[in-house]
Amino acid sequence: MAGHQSVLLRLVARAALLGATCVLAGAAAAAPTPAGAWHQREAAIMGTRIAVELWSRTDAEGEAAIDAVMAEMRRVDVLMSHYKPESQLSRINAHAGEGPVRVDRELFDLIARSLDYSRLTNGAFDITYASVGYLYDYRHHVKPNEAEIEAHLAAVDWRSLELDAKNATVRFRKPGMRIDLGGFAKGYAVDRSIELLKARGIEHASVSAGGDTRILGDRFGRPWMVGIRHPDDPQRVILRIPLENIALSTSGDYERYFDENGVRYHHIIDPRTGHSASKVRSATVIGPTATQTDGLSKTAFVLGPEKALEILSRIPDVDAVFVGPDGKVYYSPGLTPPTR
Ligand code: ADP
Ligand code: MG
Repeated sequence: MAGHQSVLLRLVARAALLGATCVLAGAAAAAPTPAGAWHQREAAIMGTRIAVELWSRTDAEGEAAIDAVMAEMRRVDVLMSHYKPESQLSRINAHAGEGPVRVDRELFDLIARSLDYSRLTNGAFDITYASVGYLYDYRHHVKPNEAEIEAHLAAVDWRSLELDAKNATVRFRKPGMRIDLGGFAKGYAVDRSIELLKARGIEHASVSAGGDTRILGDRFGRPWMVGIRHPDDPQRVILRIPLENIALSTSGDYERYFDENGVRYHHIIDPRTGHSASKVRSATVIGPTATQTDGLSKTAFVLGPEKALEILSRIPDVDAVFVGPDGKVYYSPGLTPPTR
């Protein structure tokens, strides 16, 4: 598995070397495609755009496989959404300050996994960011003032999240704590979808939920091409990355935000300060699973290239691309920058 992935990362490096505009010309000639067809569909679920594209031998199989992915996205959304008052996540936020709240094993395991990322990143990834994060309302241009941030910042503390694995319960050890899985759940849902497609015998697919994508197989002798957009222009792709059997997540300051007095207030929060992180405009992480790359893209965004690369270098098969405030692009050592 690891060997396989390192070959893929070399593929990324080689193609990146060719530059954004001629990557496809450098790709291998397409192998003959067997009987069947590509199917694709988009839907709005989990507060974002879900996009599925896959190859299947029959139309019925293809459409049924996409139906199954969309159903899985809805299921994960119901389990983990903080918008839906009936979700288990909302129950945790409403009651875990009073005592342990029992949740489904699946949700419990995901919360437990999120703590692994908090540990790994010294708290740059922290689902309790929401203790301050909920004070922002990007759509209505609402942000907390310094005093409000100050009052809530102590509750941003993943170490005060008490998990009881035996009983699958979650408890908040500090007043005012909240959690939010917005930085993890989409990657998880994408991974679940890919597993589900594999179980149906699908061998070529791409599943995206917002900035989180996972790729299954290739496109018959060619890699899938995934673009990283320009932070200020959704139509402009600054880099195309050829990928096979891998996941990629991008976190950007242009997804949910508002600007005020020259400051951008956006949805990726530095847990140390309670403010929107501002070291980079976007951070993309490439790695084996989308749950992993989703968690790590926030980390990369919050910490910026230098510190993030130090942490990412300790994780096997993970690479990253950053777009700095001045538009400069930074790459992890595993990738070769395009020469243009
Ligand atoms: P998308 O939601 O499009 O996948 P991201 O992967 O960049 O975008 O995730 C952004 C989300 O991550 C935010 O909306 C919020 O729910 C969550 N988040 C923000 N800051 C942090 C943080 N420091 N640690 C963990 N999750 C965070
Ligand atoms: Mg994401």
